[in-house]
Amino acid sequence: MASPLDTVKPQVRALRAYSLVAERTRVKLNQNENPWDVPVEIKQETVRRINERAWSRYPDFTPLQFHETLAEFSGWKPEGVLAGNGSNELIQAVLMVTVGPGKRVLISEPTFALYRQITTVLGGEVLSVPLTPELTYDAEALLSAIKTTQPDVTIVCSPNNPTGCVMEASDLAKLLEASSGLVVVDEAYFEFSGQTAVPLLSRHPNLIVLRTFSKAMALAALRVGYLLGDPDLVREVGKALLPYNLNALSQTAAEVALEMFASNLAPLVQKICSERDRLYAELQNMPGLIPVRSRANFMVVRSQLEPRRVFDELLRRDILIRDVSKYPMLQECFRVSVGTPEENDLLIASLREILGAS
Ligand code: PMP
Repeated sequence: MASPLDTVKPQVRALRAYSLVAERTRVKLNQNENPWDVPVEIKQETVRRINERAWSRYPDFTPLQFHETLAEFSGWKPEGVLAGNGSNELIQAVLMVTVGPGKRVLISEPTFALYRQITTVLGGEVLSVPLTPELTYDAEALLSAIKTTQPDVTIVCSPNNPTGCVMEASDLAKLLEASSGLVVVDEAYFEFSGQTAVPLLSRHPNLIVLRTFSKAMALAALRVGYLLGDPDLVREVGKALLPYNLNALSQTAAEVALEMFASNLAPLVQKICSERDRLYAELQNMPGLIPVRSRANFMVVRSQLEPRRVFDELLRRDILIRDVSKYPMLQECFRVSVGTPEENDLLIASLREILGAS
């Protein structure tokens, strides 16, 4: 008898589902979240505003005020802004309106797994250029791949998850000039790098910038992301979104977070960056480990001891990290998010113990 699964596209059947271990630990360093909860002033103001509105009514069809706040924060025009239910939704929307059988998406790997996943589900082809052996972007190789294959979409994750490398604006400009297709820059971690592609938007109508409230903004639970691009292009991407994709509570929280960013969130971002540099220095001094320099709130670490063993040993000590050894080029690596100073101290002490004992 034919199986109902036969109706699923073969390329989808061949995929492994994107998923995460369900462990909950005292110290959680596996998802690049902000280790501090969103400041209480932001929560209270969000609740105050949400209590003032009727919950029986839909949100605005197009959240114009929110788009304006996002535009002002980003230095771009409100007509060129789109908000989403997490930036994942916007990655999906961009690919939905561009990718199908016969379409090609260029990425550098290792990178965020969702780009390959969604492209494959949509029937497109993934073209992949490896990072350099130092795990930095190989801009020359990307440029020549663009010139020879003219992909429909090129996705650059900067800072890159999981390696933390960034693509310099001058290199990005070269890719944009050489590309007849779209170039999508995923800036989920840009607040930690002090670097953005936004100034290139006005000169390059084929550029799309994606951002999220899940990392520096400490709002991962509420699922908010946004997209910046040429207004004509943004209108097309919007066609792939469901109406009212962003709920009123999440939208309100994101608005308040933007208003209070400088006073309440920027100091936390600063602290995370200085903790990242401290963690890097500590791990560099540890025999058996080689950390990779990162411009984000996480880093990849090469380990003499098998990454799976490091993961298990840390889990026994109530610390959750990410085993990235299945990613291309990262067979010897694990990834840690930067935690609070106390969490990082615990991680450092535990790693010292685990590696000392191996
Ligand atoms: N892009 C990158 C590079 C990420 O690492 C993540 C989350 N891990 C996302 C996008 C998705 O973030 P969200 O959907 O929470 O906005």
